Amino acid sequence: MKFNKQVWTLGIAVISIIVFNSNYSQVLSNENPVLNSDNNESNTMKKTDAEWKQILSQEEYRILRSKGTERAFTGEFDGHFEEGMYICAGCANNLFESGTKYRSGCGWPAFYEALPESVEETKDNTFGMNRIEITCSKCESHLGHVFNDGPDPTGLRYCINSVSMDFKPDEKK
Ligand code: FE
Repeated sequence: MKFNKQVWTLGIAVISIIVFNSNYSQVLSNENPVLNSDNNESNTMKKTDAEWKQILSQEEYRILRSKGTERAFTGEFDGHFEEGMYICAGCANNLFESGTKYRSGCGWPAFYEALPESVEETKDNTFGMNRIEITCSKCESHLGHVFNDGPDPTGLRYCINSVSMDFKPDEKK
């Protein structure tokens, strides 16, 4: 009787362990919706250097991926004032609305405001200057710099390479 009770107890213990383990491994193997969320990744576009070289022209690669600058007063959007959206030349991320573009006279397209979350700011101390570099928040391509000498309402001047952008005109209604 005593032996039977021990066997019975042991049996229950073994079954409990098996059930617990199978549930536990199921939990582990399931995609955890929080931990494995790719929400952060879905808004970004990462490419290898070789991939960028394939899809960009030499000049685009020099500016977007090597942080180059186009010559002043040469860019196609410097004197461009149509209504629409300026988008990233690397990934088509919406960057600047035409309504925020103004004539700064600096030789590059200038905007007083970027679309929310569209760009990232990074300190840039190259060439002996203290500037703030602007990159695309989605593909990290170099766009230009932002300065504090812009007009109202922000006082900012986003000085952006034409090469870094494409233009999407507003649809005529
Ligand atoms: Fe981009």
